[in-house]
Amino acid sequence: MSRAFNFCAGPAALPESVLKQAQEELLDYQGLGLSLMEMSHRAPEVVAVAEQAEADLRELMAIPSNYKVLFLQGGASSQFAMIPMNLLGDKKTADYVNTGQWSKKAIKEAGRYCDVNVVATDEANNFAAVPAFDTWSLNKDAAYLHYTPNETIGGVEFDFIPDVNVPLVADMSSTILSRPVDVSKFGLIYAGAQKNIGPAGITVVIVREDLIGNALPATPAMFDYKVHADNASMYNTPPTYGWYLAGLVFKWLIAQGGLEAMEAHNRAKQEKLYQYIDASDFYANPVAINNRSWMNVPFTLADAALDKAFLQKAENARLLNLKGHRSVGGMRASIYNAVPMEAVDALISFMKDFEKEQG
Ligand SMILES: *Cc1c(COP(=O)(O)O)cnc(C)c1O
Repeated sequence: MSRAFNFCAGPAALPESVLKQAQEELLDYQGLGLSLMEMSHRAPEVVAVAEQAEADLRELMAIPSNYKVLFLQGGASSQFAMIPMNLLGDKKTADYVNTGQWSKKAIKEAGRYCDVNVVATDEANNFAAVPAFDTWSLNKDAAYLHYTPNETIGGVEFDFIPDVNVPLVADMSSTILSRPVDVSKFGLIYAGAQKNIGPAGITVVIVREDLIGNALPATPAMFDYKVHADNASMYNTPPTYGWYLAGLVFKWLIAQGGLEAMEAHNRAKQEKLYQYIDASDFYANPVAINNRSWMNVPFTLADAALDKAFLQKAENARLLNLKGHRSVGGMRASIYNAVPMEAVDALISFMKDFEKEQG
């Protein structure tokens, strides 16, 4: 068996050593004679897995003690609703930055609960850049400001953390754990697991304690951060197996040297790929240099009629899932933490050969 290089935007590549450990433990977890999947979430061994995962995530991200870490279900998309439900309090409006497809979904959902003030957007320019902070029109009555540090579809990333007077809320689904971040600057950070954390099915929410406990009266229990915080994310049956796999990924990250090491590794990967794209007349990336995503690298070919051939040949070369999102077309190489430099090297070498043949 040989594993292909997987550039999927999500669910994304997992570290091979993590999959191997899961395989080894699949049928008989720590000599207990059953799979972790088959165990009660109240079993001490499962609670230990859950607690260790939280401890390791806290260590990796240096999460201050006045933040809760919640392991929830419903994906980042459920957070689009949970955030206004829990953070609006008696405020009637919230600030949102619109930098692409995921921002738009968050804005649309928040619109059910409050007046959404879009502080800035580069939509007229096809979201090619993050609008400069000094052009934003912030509302002083906003309950919070929401933004998407990395737009997974457009490959657009913030090169700054907004400095605002209201709680800062960030959808870090596709950038969390890619490098160190100062958690204390945020009111709430959330991320679906299936990009940089683990398999789909679990969602991490890191929320400052003072923001918990003010949910709107009609908030269902399952949507109330307080309910989950008070029950250590075990109010109902949590996705135990996804939690376990996320924990293995956290251990793997610590063994790699933590987020400083991931930063160096990710910086080098994206630099190589963008440098090659920029040097070529055949491939192009439309995003402003300062806002290019480290995790999701979209690119177009000189002639879109060649897209199909490119994807077919890439697949034959075992370079998988390079098709761009259906809303933007072209290609996209997602190079998350678990994608090694060898994958980037193989992709560039393939792109060179394809250009030579067609260019
Ligand atoms: C993938 C993604 C989402 C959606 O996540 P789900 O877990 O599918 O709900 C939301 N925001 C960003 C930035 C994403 O990359």
